[in-house]
Amino acid sequence: MALYVYKFGGTSVGSVERIKAVAEKVKKAHDLGDQIVVVVSAMSGETNRLVSLAREMQQQPTEREMDVLLSTGEQVTVSLLSMALHEIGCPACSYTGGQVKILTDSSHTKARIRNIDDTRIRMHLNAGKVIVVAGFQGVDEHDNITTLGRGGSDTTAVALAAALKADECHIYTDVDGVYTTDPRVEPKARRLDKITFEEMLEMASLGSKVLQIRSVEFAGKYNVALRVLSSFKEGKGTLITYEESQMESALISGIAFNRDEAKLTITGVPDLPGVAFKILGPIADANIEIDMIVQNIADDSTTDFTFTVHRNDYLRAKTLLEGIREELGARKVTGDDSIVKISIVGVGMRSHAGIASTMFKTLAKEGINIRMISTSEIKISVVVDEKYLELAVRALHAAFKLDQEVES
Ligand code: ADP
Ligand code: ASP
Ligand code: MG
Repeated sequence: MALYVYKFGGTSVGSVERIKAVAEKVKKAHDLGDQIVVVVSAMSGETNRLVSLAREMQQQPTEREMDVLLSTGEQVTVSLLSMALHEIGCPACSYTGGQVKILTDSSHTKARIRNIDDTRIRMHLNAGKVIVVAGFQGVDEHDNITTLGRGGSDTTAVALAAALKADECHIYTDVDGVYTTDPRVEPKARRLDKITFEEMLEMASLGSKVLQIRSVEFAGKYNVALRVLSSFKEGKGTLITYEESQMESALISGIAFNRDEAKLTITGVPDLPGVAFKILGPIADANIEIDMIVQNIADDSTTDFTFTVHRNDYLRAKTLLEGIREELGARKVTGDDSIVKISIVGVGMRSHAGIASTMFKTLAKEGINIRMISTSEIKISVVVDEKYLELAVRALHAAFKLDQEVES
């Protein structure tokens, strides 16, 4: 007898019919004698709807109340799925994150899981029931409801799989696996049979929202066998796994992109020690996360400083930067919130030179201007104008032959 954690995302539970289809799939696995824990997201569009409602009340909604609100989306689906299971004669029991209990820290809207008490779940599993758990939520030590950040149901599923030492964790979604890039942008994208934790983590961090970053971190840390599959059609999906020698033949595994960034520049900054701290300190104090940072070489004892932030933080960061400019006697603040970051990712990059030049040559050939560049051992990212996103992704996909099977 095996124990599986299955997670179904928003689209997979987006209507009564789809919830019924999920129930059938779960019952089939349960009938084979396996123990099944199901994690579900809110019905598609529901979390966005709740976010807009909150914004009609407050421009910056109180985070504690936001979590109370957002957690309701998942509570609807766990109850409906349990009912659908009862209706077809499958014993099931629904739980909110707090009931399980999934203990988190108190960082509302982006809480981290600290501990999962599996006693209740085990008891019910041993009694032959399917357990249906609300994704994306937990409680802190004072029993306040918390949520885990957008896409957080993936993390609930992986954390439960780790806590229960499940045989596999299946993330069922609206694509049949992890692709070389988002198939919505490049229809020639190819499904990968396997991808390493390291590459998946990099892809997720760089904007591939097929898995939440923390779910991949968790899976790597606790050695959870993680698979991404389609809710709608049969198939083996993509296994997230440790690096194997056979995988090294691919130089680049995939292309990720992030449409959520914005760029800010402060020019004519005096080139003195402590300046980076004076610029970025207040931004960090305002809880604004900074992604890429570039400081130019000083000219005339002044320098320019550019960094990127999440688009939602753009206006706040720009206002702060205006204040900093005055204080430092810098020249000018400029910004652009219509940029995107495109990254190529692959562990094979470690041992191969020339990847960056192929990337830059490809973009040049398409007449795409690169605004910022950043590299690490297994990725190269560029910032370009938003309007070039599709063109750049498709050109790079072709240049690195990602549509073709790798020979091993
Ligand atoms: P769910 O609601 O099931 O959690 P998500 O929308 O969060 O689903 O994730 C699935 C989506 O991720 C796909 O529809 C696809 O557009 C997008 N995606 C982005 N990058 C990739 C990739 N490399 N491979 C597969 N899907 C990707
Ligand atoms: N419902 C939440 C969201 O839309 C969590 C999730 O689906 O994973 O972000
Ligand atoms: Mg998701």
